[in-house]
Amino acid sequence: MGTNVELFEVSLRDGLQNEKKVISTDDKLRHLEALLEAGLKDIEVTSFVRPSRIPQLADAAELCARLPKRDDVRFWGLVPNRKGMERALDAGLDHLCTVVSASDTHNRKNLNRTSRETLAANREIFQTVRAEGGQARAYLSTAFGCPYEGDVPPERVGELAGELYQAGAHFVALGDTIGSGSPELMQRVLSEVYAAGVPAEALAVHVHDTQGTALLNVYTAYQLDVRRFDGSVAGVGGCPYAPGAAGNLASERIVHLFEQMGVETGVDLRGLANAGSQLATLLGKTSGGPSALIAQLKGLHVRSA
Ligand code: MG
Repeated sequence: MGTNVELFEVSLRDGLQNEKKVISTDDKLRHLEALLEAGLKDIEVTSFVRPSRIPQLADAAELCARLPKRDDVRFWGLVPNRKGMERALDAGLDHLCTVVSASDTHNRKNLNRTSRETLAANREIFQTVRAEGGQARAYLSTAFGCPYEGDVPPERVGELAGELYQAGAHFVALGDTIGSGSPELMQRVLSEVYAAGVPAEALAVHVHDTQGTALLNVYTAYQLDVRRFDGSVAGVGGCPYAPGAAGNLASERIVHLFEQMGVETGVDLRGLANAGSQLATLLGKTSGGPSALIAQLKGLHVRSA
């Protein structure tokens, strides 16, 4: 494997769905332009859940109809089930994300079924997406701990990750839903996931910074060959189904870490800081958070939105 890493930007979906303020489709498209300007190539743009469930993302179809034509960029949409998949395909997306929780209780609260029932339904989605010439990405949530069950055995995470990969997912994203991960746990989980036959090229890591260990977990995963990392500019978002979950790790922090290590991300930190500052302003946050801090550290001038 090369030393380059790929950033998967989740601010427009995972970020916005956990913010109270609903921003307009126009503002989302402006934010998307800023993300593209920063050089991002994998962007999760929305979710096809029932609009009444997540009003922040109720404009999914309209947003997709207005996405810029970019052959070099993959726009991703989250689909909870077959119906969501059909809506996403109708809206022109063929890069789809699904979600399964490693713990049954979290899966039931989220999707009203056991993890393995959801996994079986995901198989059909992966096959349809493949037939459409697209790609499928399976989030495996609560891979480092569950808000209801506590510890989740790494062996179970490995098994489910292996089954998702065998079922046809191009990528499996290990989600630290409540930010309970640690470098030691990352090592144990990845060891089980590799043992289950999932290659590093098919893996991504999605961490939350609840305990301030998110960047350590990213670093540990990198040392263990993972090259895909999820981030949300300005650290917006969390998980609405996991009480107490802190926000996503800020994309700026991930890019900053890899810049310090001399690892190529293809993303311009100044552009990313601009996008983060813009989104923080749109959401009515008083500061750009990590964007502002990193910009200050790097002596970058960041535009306000
Ligand atoms: Mg998240």
